[in-house]
Amino acid sequence: MQTLTLNNGVEMPALGLGVFQTPPDETIAAVTAALELGYRHIDTAAAYGNEREVGQALRDSGVPRDEVFVETKIWISDYGYETLHGFDKSAAKLGLDQIDLLILHQALPSDFDRTLDAYRALEKLLADGTVRAIGVSNFMTDHLATLLDATSVVPAVNQLEIHPYFQQRAVLDFDTDHGILNQAWSPIGGITFYPGYGEDRRSVLQDPAVTRIAEAHGKSPAQVLLRWGLQQGRSVIPKSTKRHRIAENLDVFDFELTADELSALDALETGRRGGPEPEAVTLAAYGRAIPEA
Ligand code: NDP
Repeated sequence: MQTLTLNNGVEMPALGLGVFQTPPDETIAAVTAALELGYRHIDTAAAYGNEREVGQALRDSGVPRDEVFVETKIWISDYGYETLHGFDKSAAKLGLDQIDLLILHQALPSDFDRTLDAYRALEKLLADGTVRAIGVSNFMTDHLATLLDATSVVPAVNQLEIHPYFQQRAVLDFDTDHGILNQAWSPIGGITFYPGYGEDRRSVLQDPAVTRIAEAHGKSPAQVLLRWGLQQGRSVIPKSTKRHRIAENLDVFDFELTADELSALDALETGRRGGPEPEAVTLAAYGRAIPEA
């Protein structure tokens, strides 16, 4: 498994299994399949409601704890004073004393002081050794600039929507310039949670430019999209509940896209976001409470 080195020296497997929208009753099977197939990185979140099942699958797998990289996210309703308790809830549900990567799920632009306090809580957890690395998700360049000014630890990761139809190049460049690793959510363009998403859109998996490259390599469109991310230095965390697709998504380390193929995929940018607009995330609209452990 290819690894990436975070800005504090911690090694992270470049490819992990995502579990957003994986129902709790399918999570144990998905994570179990992934671990059997060789995945060593799982990305979950307090807001996904399946940390308990991720933890169960990890324990049942028999894979030593220190061989699996576990990443989770603090939800906005637990920002501020509540963030340390947010960690306690996630750690208890996962059944872990230490989390490998803990990130803030979203910025709260209308209440950025609360976001900063949440990040300072992550800094404390890092100093205590209860997390090995800290980071953010869906932070835009102005959020990052303010965060860097106001806090001490540069985030190890910014987890963002990144696929050829929506590449966020300005944020990717800002991250790279500051030693923040870009991690792609919806790396195969697969989000379906946003109201109206997909109704007037073709999946990037069906884009002729993608299918043509896939045919040339004898690989699937999903594998081509994952390679595009990996070859540009990003971490990718594809989600599937299906064993054959979980296997397919890991089988991406035996071929290489050419510079022309990477450019052809770069050229697919549409400028249209699939997920929520980060500036519009507020506690009132999105701040549902995370249950106790
Ligand atoms: P993905 O790009 O991973 O796509 C997942 C979708 O593609 C699912 O519908 C899945 O269906 C399908 N799929 C998976 N593998 C294949 C394949 N080989 N061929 C065809 N279809 C396939 O999107 P996600 O939005 O799930 O993002 C991945 C992960 O990123 C999430 O699970 C989560 O961990 C994280 N994430 C983070 C967010 C954030 O705000 N920080 C927001 C969204 C996601 P099926 O399960 O039926 O196989």
